[in-house]
Amino acid sequence: MSPSIRWRIAVPYVFLIVVAMTGLAVYLSNVVRGAYLDSLEAQLGGEAQIIGDVLAPALAQDKPGTTFDVQANHYADLLDARVTIIGADGVVLGESDEDRTQMDNHLFRPEVQQALAEGQGSSIRLSRTVEVDMMYVAQRVESDGKVVGFARVALPLRQVEANVNRLRWAVFSAALLTVGGAALLALLIAERTARPVRELTRVVQRVSEGDLHARLLPTTRDEVGTLTRAFNQMSDRLRGTITMLVEERGRLAAVLDNMADGAIITDGDGHVRLINPAAVRILGADEKTAMGRSFAEVARDHRIIDLWQQCRDECEERVAPVEVGRQQPFLQVIVTPLQDAEPGACLVILQDLTRVRRLETVRRDFISNISHELRTPLASLKALADTLRDGALEDPPAARRFLNRMEVEVDALTQMVQELLELSRIESGQVGFEIAPVPVADVVNPSLERLRPQAERADLQLSIDMAPDLPLVLADAERVRQVITNLVHNAIKFTPPGGEVAISAKAGGDEVIISVRDTGVGIPADDLPRIFERFYKADRARSGGGTGLGLAIAKHIVLAHGGRIWAESVEGRGSTFSVALRVQTAE
Ligand code: ADP
Repeated sequence: MSPSIRWRIAVPYVFLIVVAMTGLAVYLSNVVRGAYLDSLEAQLGGEAQIIGDVLAPALAQDKPGTTFDVQANHYADLLDARVTIIGADGVVLGESDEDRTQMDNHLFRPEVQQALAEGQGSSIRLSRTVEVDMMYVAQRVESDGKVVGFARVALPLRQVEANVNRLRWAVFSAALLTVGGAALLALLIAERTARPVRELTRVVQRVSEGDLHARLLPTTRDEVGTLTRAFNQMSDRLRGTITMLVEERGRLAAVLDNMADGAIITDGDGHVRLINPAAVRILGADEKTAMGRSFAEVARDHRIIDLWQQCRDECEERVAPVEVGRQQPFLQVIVTPLQDAEPGACLVILQDLTRVRRLETVRRDFISNISHELRTPLASLKALADTLRDGALEDPPAARRFLNRMEVEVDALTQMVQELLELSRIESGQVGFEIAPVPVADVVNPSLERLRPQAERADLQLSIDMAPDLPLVLADAERVRQVITNLVHNAIKFTPPGGEVAISAKAGGDEVIISVRDTGVGIPADDLPRIFERFYKADRARSGGGTGLGLAIAKHIVLAHGGRIWAESVEGRGSTFSVALRVQTAE
């Protein structure tokens, strides 16, 4: 782990101070030592000069055997130093601290040589005789311009060293204290600099873990403060963007969930990345396992898979109709490449056109039916008019007969147009229904009574079975009577003589179900789903003069009541038409 900011600031700072203080201490102690030695040298030089001056006359006499030990001792006591008197030839003539006779010739001692050349000389070295560092200062002694000898004063440097050491200690202690203080200060400054960064790091970590509300109050106006403000701004923007994305995602999910078209997105590897409920329903796939499986496994139809593969290969949109099966939906498949998102990714849209196709069929049938329905009466009217013009007018009884037939045709046409008009008015909601609670008998019985003579004429047995205590139904009595009349009328029409037409009414949940059952010709299974369509006639040959609009009108009336109407039938055995009406509920 790399060291923290605190240490990275503090360590070099402390190091710098330690180096600076050590350097300063060494330099100072050296300077002081030098100054000490200089002043000592000057002092010893002065003393040597005085001794030389005093002893110059005696040295000038140069009497053999003359010794200066007494004088040397005297000055040594006086100056508290070692004093040596040396002759011009280098022979030691007087010595305060040592046995002079044991001492060798001193002419070539460095300080003596220097004094010989310059008048005064000094040297620091280990004394061979006393074994300590000494400072020697020698003075050339002259008389009448002639060198007569040398006076040398020496002092051990012990004292100097002790003084310098004391000073060194003082300087080092001061340096140590300064370093300690500076280090403390450095840590403090480093800590102050690092703390906001640490806090910022903590908040950034929280944001990265998903807490988008984490913020930091900027406390300073420096770079860290600017960084904090910039970070807060960034977090605000991030939160805004994420919120927007989440909302958008939610909206998109809602659109996908609720759209009627199936939508599938596949990735570059051909796996399903998104599938909406409509696609699951249309393809009959398993919603839980579809995600992540290969498109081929989910789509299962080779035409859809081929189309998808072509789109992937050629990176071009592909559109094709696909009829999955007879009872299955008729699909329009649109495959669009999503090249921008990922190479090979595709969007597959499955539009269920079954209803559109059915409506188209119904419309086509409607037009062909209405033309057909109009053509027959119009052709017969034309024939009758032609006959009249071609001479029938001259034969009044025949003319009257023709006119009667023309009237019948016109009535049939009028009825058809009226029924059509009524149907379209009901469909478009222009007819107002006066829905009120009515007894079931009130809607069933009048229709029955009206049609009873017709049933008897057709040799049919008409029966009614109404459960007692039926609740009131919510109905526009007049309209519902029209529905029941139509159903019973159809039952009579499509039941051969000797048959039976039974009407029943029973309560079921919050509905009353009125059924009209007959033992007639029945309706082929293929026609059964379509008999409530306009003009639909299951068996044209046997439908007589019917327009095929009765059941369509009945259906719309029942739907307007919030009820249901349906038919069950076995061809050749009979049919049952049922109407469910809502009952009045106690509020
Ligand atoms: P229509 O005026 O021709 O009777 P509807 O709409 O009432 O018209 O009936 C439509 C078609 O439904 C009829 O032509 C007939 O083929 C069939 N149908 C209706 N009711 C019955 C029934 N009880 N038994 C058999 N077929 C029926």
